Amino acid sequence: MKPAFYITTPIYYVNDVPHIGHAYTTIACDALARFHRLKGQKVFFLTGTDEHGEKVQKTATQQGVSPRDLADRVVTRFQGLSPALSITNDDFIRTTEPRHYASVQELFRRSQKNGDIYLGEYEGWYCTPCEAYWTDLQIGAGNCPDCGRPVEKRKEPSFFFRLSKYQRPLLEYYERNPRFIRPDSRRNEVVAFVEGGLHDLSVSRTSLSWGIPVPEHPGHVIYVWYDALTNYVTGVGFPGGGERFDTFWPADIHMVGKDILRFHAVYWPAFLMSAGVAPPLGVFAHGWWTVEGQKMSKSLGNVVDPYDMVDRYGADAFRYFLLREVPFGLDGDFSRRALVHRINSDLANDFGNLLNRTLGMLSKYFGGTVPVPSVAGEEDLSLIARSREVLSLVDGAMEEVEFHRALSAIWDLVKAANRYVDASAPWSLAKDPAKRGRLGTVLYNILEASRICVLLSSPFIPAAAQRMWEALGCEGQVAGAVLSEEGGWGRLTAGAALPKTAVAFPRIEE
Ligand SMILES: [Zn+2]
Repeated sequence: MKPAFYITTPIYYVNDVPHIGHAYTTIACDALARFHRLKGQKVFFLTGTDEHGEKVQKTATQQGVSPRDLADRVVTRFQGLSPALSITNDDFIRTTEPRHYASVQELFRRSQKNGDIYLGEYEGWYCTPCEAYWTDLQIGAGNCPDCGRPVEKRKEPSFFFRLSKYQRPLLEYYERNPRFIRPDSRRNEVVAFVEGGLHDLSVSRTSLSWGIPVPEHPGHVIYVWYDALTNYVTGVGFPGGGERFDTFWPADIHMVGKDILRFHAVYWPAFLMSAGVAPPLGVFAHGWWTVEGQKMSKSLGNVVDPYDMVDRYGADAFRYFLLREVPFGLDGDFSRRALVHRINSDLANDFGNLLNRTLGMLSKYFGGTVPVPSVAGEEDLSLIARSREVLSLVDGAMEEVEFHRALSAIWDLVKAANRYVDASAPWSLAKDPAKRGRLGTVLYNILEASRICVLLSSPFIPAAAQRMWEALGCEGQVAGAVLSEEGGWGRLTAGAALPKTAVAFPRIEE
């Protein structure tokens, strides 16, 4: 196992408001970060905001404020996602920070120095009112895709990055690192794109001022994508080097939406190779959400606001639904009915019920004290074997970034534990004093299986897991536990008195 794990969300554009898409990416990264911490790895989890570019400049002008003031105001909506959604990011980077200016300019300078960045002329379709360039593809019918007004062919001096030179190195990198782009279907798409040939990339603009200046050419600002991608090395201390950079770079996973995969899987590794920095180890592209069967859009008024979801259902329920409902990587549909159904059936009925009735019986039959288990029968051994197996099942699924599979493995154990309760019928055993030893064994086994389910589900439903962890008498933070120690069978101490707490997942009534 690698000693360290570095995961990133894309940085979110401040000209937007947080919606389900941002929440989804961030929650997925958080579940992975938490799981890798459980494995005992040192984790660094970075998120942040992309604050430069034409659109921010334009919106700021319209509102009569400076772009910086606009960014300062909007960034709080994104920063607030972390406490609202129980996100454990280690840093939050803003591309307007001085550390980021230094990082972008240094990366740029290195590529200038080795001849990969040269001065040329950028030509494109320019919309004067929008102050934006469009490509042939974007203008389609001939007018500006944003405002519909006519565009004109225009040229400006621009620095170019010699992307064409990296076609072969990139293909070789994909070949040597078959898990660099996931899922596989996306990998094929990127390989085909690069095999089709790469054009040099314009990486500066003179038509824009809100951005990071090109070193020694203050009339040019660095293209927003070059600027934005570089956040991933800034976040771990580039260009200063140092311990954080050495520990965490190259990043293990850049989590992205499928629409921005090309920037991360083609441009970004090429920029890094050129600057003599190792490319990331992995890029994972996830799918998109429709809402109640429709494309999400401001005009339809169906944008899902994560803050609203948390107020209504709680962060755990929202997190669980997003990661359980749809195989990660595929598109999914968000529906309130499906969410309520999931929460009531999986959390309230299956898991909540297991915990509630177990702790209820423990309190009733043993005064809340963990009993001493005795000789195990066949049905006990089968539950114990399942509780051991689930660790590697979940680990395997998380390595593949298959959250739905990890959760389904945990819930298989929840269901097996519920069946074990039904089959063992502790309420009948309790009627016969001669069977008190057997009753104790049964309750101990259910408590242990429950404890393992709580531990493994903690990356997904952290607040509820902590509540249940405490209800089971486990000390400290479940988030601080380590699987190799706490994941083993038999860690509950016989004789320990469990606190009296209400642990149920409430049902959602709508
Ligand atoms: Zn326009």
